[in-house]
Amino acid sequence: MVRSVRDQWNRALDILGNKPSGLITDIDGTISELVAHPDEAVVTEEIKQSLNSLAKKLSVVAVVTGRSAPKAISMLGTSELLVVGNHGMEWAENGRIEVAPEVKPYTDKLNEALDKLSSEIRIPGVLIENKGVTAAIHYRQTENPDDSKRVIFAKLSDLAEQYGLILTEGKMNFELRPPVNLNKGTASIRIAERYNLKSCVFMGDDVTDVDAVRSLRGLAANGKIVFMSIAVLSGQTPPVVLEEADMLLDGVRQVAEFLRWLDSSLK
Ligand SMILES: [Mg+2]
Repeated sequence: MVRSVRDQWNRALDILGNKPSGLITDIDGTISELVAHPDEAVVTEEIKQSLNSLAKKLSVVAVVTGRSAPKAISMLGTSELLVVGNHGMEWAENGRIEVAPEVKPYTDKLNEALDKLSSEIRIPGVLIENKGVTAAIHYRQTENPDDSKRVIFAKLSDLAEQYGLILTEGKMNFELRPPVNLNKGTASIRIAERYNLKSCVFMGDDVTDVDAVRSLRGLAANGKIVFMSIAVLSGQTPPVVLEEADMLLDGVRQVAEFLRWLDSSLK
């Protein structure tokens, strides 16, 4: 059955009206435009306003991101939102950031791996983003991203093995993480359980968001929640993100429009 766009938006509204309900969102590529340098990314005032207003009407509006929690907080400003950083490894609440204890032993290993990477890979434009407990290695700004990707992947595979870290791939970047079972999926389940959600909408744009979609869909399959996943499109949307989507939004601009509409429609 093909649903019209308006039907889908109304369905999202119905789900969030079935309280206690929650909205969980990614940041980059979802509520902030993808930009050449991650430090230049911003969340617009309009989107912040919509999310903060929705947070007063829903049990929770959570931001679950691969960014570090401090960076995510600085992008969102003073807010009513629950911020979960580093793919579920950092929880920010009431002005305090709690780092999952099982990831702490890997901080030194990550730093050593990144030191080696920066001394051995000399491709102009490669950006190593050390996020404390995880790291992102971006090749978007290199002259030949395909070649860079190959070289960086080979090096990172070796380093991941050597230091006992996990290597994952995103849009024009790789990530190194501790080998712990914490990801956007485990974070989303914890949020759903903690707030006793009966229904939940998730928005994301990349491969790591699929963990959240699948985990929440698992809760829905067990009858615990009603769930809807929204994929935000960009020029480089991974196929798996599309496969897991119940609804599509065309870029951050349409996300802004959707959130404004949700906020004005929701009681
Ligand atoms: Mg993203």
